[in-house]
Amino acid sequence: MLAKDIEKILITREDIQKRCAELGAQLTADYADKNPLVVGILKGAVPFMADIVREIDAHLELDFMDVSSYGNQMVSSGEVKIIKDLDTNVEGRDLLIVEDIIDSGRTLGYLVDLFKYRKARSVKIVTLLDKPEGRVVDIHADYVGFDVPNEFVVGYGLDYAEAYRNLPYVGVLKPEIYQSN
Ligand code: 5GP
Ligand code: MG
Ligand code: MG
Repeated sequence: MLAKDIEKILITREDIQKRCAELGAQLTADYADKNPLVVGILKGAVPFMADIVREIDAHLELDFMDVSSYGNQMVSSGEVKIIKDLDTNVEGRDLLIVEDIIDSGRTLGYLVDLFKYRKARSVKIVTLLDKPEGRVVDIHADYVGFDVPNEFVVGYGLDYAEAYRNLPYVGVLKPEIYQSN
């Protein structure tokens, strides 16, 4: 049972469903006739990406990128390393990056610069969660699901040591889960 490790639920499955429908309506309007390339950042964005693209009623294409920042599991460092690059040439394309959470903004700062360097026509960001208090790099998402406080959250794609990504809600772990490691 995963639920026994959770101290509190911050965002329920129903909250997420409802918000995805709202964001999807906005994205449908903004991307009609643009055939955007929707870029999911592995692995955290997978559940949100699956939900959000099914709420966009327009032609689009999917691709994925996997990046890691050097550092430990709970704090990201400044350096970003590409683990898996896109399959698609982004030159002239309208990109919509899908992320699980923006904290320091370093990961997305790096990716936005990279895609502009590769001559994407436009680069926008949709993120399930935003942690504005964590920001180090000046980056903002164009579409945000929910703001969260400066706490370590798991679920709906977000992991602790690769676990809890499959929780159908976003929550905070009990302190003893960290302490036992
Ligand atoms: P940033 O580069 O914006 O600091 O970090 C973004 C990445 O750090 C996210 O994609 C996510 O993988 C990880 N991250 C940041 N905050 C949290 C959090 O509260 N919980 C989890 N599980 N991962 C986080
Ligand atoms: Mg991520
Ligand atoms: Mg992680």
